[in-house]
Amino acid sequence: MSFVIGLQCRECGQEYPQAPLHVCENCFGPLEIQYDYEGIKKSISREKIASRDRNLWRYRELLPIDGEPRAGLYSGYTPLVRAHRLGDALGVKEFYVKDDSVNHPSFSYKDRVVSVAISKAMEFGFKTVSCASTGNLANSVAAHAAKAGLDCYVFIPDGLEQGKIIGSAIYGPKTVAIKGNYDDVNRLCSEIGDKYGWAFVNVNLRPYYSEGAKTHGFEVVEQLGWKLPQHIVVASAGGTILPKLAKGFKELIKVGLAEDTGCKIYSAQAAGCAPIINALHKGTDLVSPVKPNTIASSIAIGNPAGGYYVIQAVRESGGWGESVTDEEILDGIKLLARTEGIFTEPAGGTEVAVTKKLIEQGRIPRHESIVISITGNGYKTLEAVAKSVERPYTINATLQNFDELFHQLEPNAGVKALAS
Ligand SMILES: *Cc1c(COP(=O)(O)O)cnc(C)c1O
Ligand SMILES: [Zn+2]
Repeated sequence: MSFVIGLQCRECGQEYPQAPLHVCENCFGPLEIQYDYEGIKKSISREKIASRDRNLWRYRELLPIDGEPRAGLYSGYTPLVRAHRLGDALGVKEFYVKDDSVNHPSFSYKDRVVSVAISKAMEFGFKTVSCASTGNLANSVAAHAAKAGLDCYVFIPDGLEQGKIIGSAIYGPKTVAIKGNYDDVNRLCSEIGDKYGWAFVNVNLRPYYSEGAKTHGFEVVEQLGWKLPQHIVVASAGGTILPKLAKGFKELIKVGLAEDTGCKIYSAQAAGCAPIINALHKGTDLVSPVKPNTIASSIAIGNPAGGYYVIQAVRESGGWGESVTDEEILDGIKLLARTEGIFTEPAGGTEVAVTKKLIEQGRIPRHESIVISITGNGYKTLEAVAKSVERPYTINATLQNFDELFHQLEPNAGVKALAS
């Protein structure tokens, strides 16, 4: 049973029935899903959710599908890792990593939004699914399309990392690399979507797609014992996940699943592509487009469609945002790997480095609960870190060779033989 009432324009309030629509015909504002929250409140409970499978559909009352989910049956419910060692390194007490780097099936937060979009595309009867992507979205759409038996076209900027390109191609979609950056890809995809009538998950299915992002926040709250964290830090690219975290928290409060204890939300961007942070720091709502130049390609969107809504959500929550250099991003990747054993991509390095900066600035108090969202996986972007990690020591297969190496590495260490 569905609690969706329909679509509504975020700006002028015009209502629409459920359809593959994303902009208001009156004012070009974005359309959002409207729910019957009273009905949801009567139907949903913590126990009911706890009894369901560990995937993102456990929150189905708050997701925009009719009937049974048709995709993403194994997506979501990623670990919330208690990060003692990273917390110690940053001098904070209650620290958690929400680890979407191990999301099923394509190892990023995008498996959430794509699960909902593809399920909805199948309800609408689309046979071809597509997306404009910085890499992770293409991986996820291609994987989910393969599982669902749908035709698939993915559009990416040229020059992406091998792991992102092969990580789509392996599923057998048609991959089209556009000579240009993401903003060029996105512009072209709007035209293709209109002309070819495909389900573009982040264009004409955007209202459904973006709702999937709420599940990242739902899980954090459930995994903290139905409590909001006091602070959460997440990267912003097009500006989907951050405002949807805010919306998700509000919904949990509205339907009686969590108490309104307040959660400050912080946006993280790379200094080489920080249009949202620039606007936030200037105190304006107006996001001026930039030309991206950063190793964090999955969040390199110079003209973010949802930028305005990120700023609104950050301000309303009492949070803030910061940007960090590529060097700080690499340090962030290594810090997370070497304290928590989690290998993230540059977007995650950005999230770590920005969190560190906000703590050092005193913006995030050290004694309060902090969640850092890790949104992507480092095995896809090996190029980014290849030059900044140690090479292997290559030796001959003799004990003497190893003894010599060990002595070089640890000149003061003795060797204690195992008792036989
Ligand atoms: C897409 C993405 C984000 C966030 O993007 P939004 O468009 O702001 O939702 C963050 N991290 C990674 C790794 C991503 O792929
Ligand atoms: Zn409108």
